Amino acid sequence: MKRKKYNYPKLLFAIVVTIALVFGIPYAVIHSVSMEMKIDGKQFDLTEQTREELSAIFEQIDDPAYDNTFDKVYDLSSDDYIKQYTIKYKKGFADQKIFRLYLPNEENTLIVESEKSGKVIKLISDDNFRTTSIYFATPEFFGQYINANDKISFELKTSHNNDSIEQGEVAYLIAKNIYVPSYLTFLVDDKPIKFHKLEDGTNSSYVALIPSTYLSETGKKNIKFLYNSEIAPQSDETSLTINPRTFSEQHLTIAEDAVKEKRTEDARKELKAEMAKVFNKEEYRFIGDIDDFIKNFELPLEDGILTTEYGVTRYVNNELSPYTHTGLDIACPEGTNVNTTALGKVVFAGELTLTGNTVVISHGYGIYSSYYHLKSLFCKEGDEVLKGEMIGEVGTTGFSTGSHLHFEISYKDKRLEAGYFIYGEPVTYQNYPEFFSTTN
Ligand SMILES: [Zn+2]
Repeated sequence: MKRKKYNYPKLLFAIVVTIALVFGIPYAVIHSVSMEMKIDGKQFDLTEQTREELSAIFEQIDDPAYDNTFDKVYDLSSDDYIKQYTIKYKKGFADQKIFRLYLPNEENTLIVESEKSGKVIKLISDDNFRTTSIYFATPEFFGQYINANDKISFELKTSHNNDSIEQGEVAYLIAKNIYVPSYLTFLVDDKPIKFHKLEDGTNSSYVALIPSTYLSETGKKNIKFLYNSEIAPQSDETSLTINPRTFSEQHLTIAEDAVKEKRTEDARKELKAEMAKVFNKEEYRFIGDIDDFIKNFELPLEDGILTTEYGVTRYVNNELSPYTHTGLDIACPEGTNVNTTALGKVVFAGELTLTGNTVVISHGYGIYSSYYHLKSLFCKEGDEVLKGEMIGEVGTTGFSTGSHLHFEISYKDKRLEAGYFIYGEPVTYQNYPEFFSTTN
């Protein structure tokens, strides 16, 4: 085991921090704060105004009304010092905010995080710290200084973990160590895209999804990430290639029937209007790491026969139909259990002309799953569901020619290939028997 030598500045700091922890951020720490800051060796002078604001914050911390108590103190001079210790604040100060303890003389940073409901604050250090200067500040106030010292990371993820996707696949852009989200922008071909906070316990990770469908333009997209801090702006750049995929075709010959066509068109409009409302509802918040989210999906049936792939284009009487098949059609006997593909919240459970008894579930980050033509529904709007929970039975309601489940996964109204979520590759007529049993 490695043994550390005594380090006197560190020891001094340890004593100061110990006093601070025992007596509740006392004057010992606060009044020793140096109003200078070094970031990556560069000196930053704080303005008079900043000093005043800082003082106000320190006074607030020191206010007995906040009644800070600390439930555990590590001996910071020992070898196992500073991995993690916990402070409990009884009220005020830390609620609903991220606070950072910043040690400007070194590259080390103590992170003080507030868990929303529990009022428990964790102090985590990635390394040793050897300084007597400690700053407490809200991220809005201090974020640009704080982040300047952090290693912001930016990553592109797909089901293959490389820099390309196929039509129908989704890519994830992940930014970590972001303490001021208002400084953050993700750009795809110079257009900003929406991002979501990752509920991965870090309080500082964000994800943006880039969906592609059978309609998406193929080729290279430029991905940019900007962290627009005034003091230390950061950026990164990469590219994402959308590769073409060959989609199957179906040729149908049907008798011309104007009335029927009209009915179909109205039914599609109804579905579109209902789904537009559904995709605008407040979505489910997934708690966990992004990798857990990506790997969270499973087939809603145990077995069946794939009768229509995702992205199949249809030719009716040799004319290209404007309607492409947006999901997977899996034929199986009426009454077969339909289970949720992943955990989430039911945002639609009802009957529509085209899709019959329909369930839509929100899984978070804009991802939804839909189940059509059900015989019966075993859930209602607002239900929180686990993965594999039974939500209905296979049927042939709505416009359907036989008992089957139409299952799709989408990023809002952008229909994706469900196979990427479940198996990491498309489900096709050729490969589906490898993935699910066809015994019925
Ligand atoms: Zn279908």
